[in-house]
Amino acid sequence: MSNLKGKVAVVTGASKGIGAAIAKSLAAEGASVVVNYASSKEGAEKVVSEISAAKGKAITLHADVAKEADVRRLFEETIKAFGRVDILVNNAGIYRFHALHEISEDEFHRLFNTNVLGTLLATKEAAKYLGEGASIINISSIASDKGLATTTVYSATKGAVDSLTRTLANELAPKKIRVNAIRPGGVLTEGMHSAGFSGGEFEEYMIKDTPLGRLGRPDDIARVAVFLASDQSQWLTGQYLDASGGAR
Ligand code: NAP
Repeated sequence: MSNLKGKVAVVTGASKGIGAAIAKSLAAEGASVVVNYASSKEGAEKVVSEISAAKGKAITLHADVAKEADVRRLFEETIKAFGRVDILVNNAGIYRFHALHEISEDEFHRLFNTNVLGTLLATKEAAKYLGEGASIINISSIASDKGLATTTVYSATKGAVDSLTRTLANELAPKKIRVNAIRPGGVLTEGMHSAGFSGGEFEEYMIKDTPLGRLGRPDDIARVAVFLASDQSQWLTGQYLDASGGAR
């Protein structure tokens, strides 16, 4: 069993969905957790109350991961609150799908700024504080190399996340910091609802495409994150784990 007692984790985009489940699971394993959010203060506070009710330790911190000054402050405040950082989960992400003729420069930058630049900025700031044995977990997607029509920009952001996972794993290995990615398949979350992907044809397609026959749940991903955060995975770095019920 994993034990994260004494460790401090920052989970970006933890006000809902997969990030919220990861924050709660890391806290349940004994980590003190920073629940980061961009706009959903209430959602983040609810996650912290649930963690506190289960006798865990957590705080909310606001930061837009696409803004360098925000991300710098996120880690400075984490250090003020908890004194250290051991685990970074780069989960904050947005997904919108567009046919080629609908792709705009603004939408390209919006997705890349959050999904790729956000991951890089958080990793860069975290690396100032992370020490031997630390773990960075990037939430990518099986979309990164699936080639699903109309997902060009989103899939490219996750392809970039896979790529930087491997590169940074090598770059940070001399400091004994591990970097791995989880690639979820379809997971039912608030974001999936608001993007209009739940309850319709796309949901049916995702279930048919999943050998284990259902959509993922945030907890399915959180369990893998706990494994990658813990010493149970100490010999893994630069890996992508498909957490997708067999979909690829
Ligand atoms: P979600 O329900 O929409 O939640 C997204 C989270 O990211 C929210 O907490 C949101 O915070 C935060 N966020 C967005 N932009 C941010 C920014 N600029 N700075 C800080 N936080 C920001 O999404 P989800 O479905 O849980 O997805 C989470 C991650 O998993 C994403 O990286 C996504 O690409 C990946 N993923 C999801 C699926 C899926 O099927 N759900 C599949 C594969 C991969 P606020 O609400 O406060 O803005």
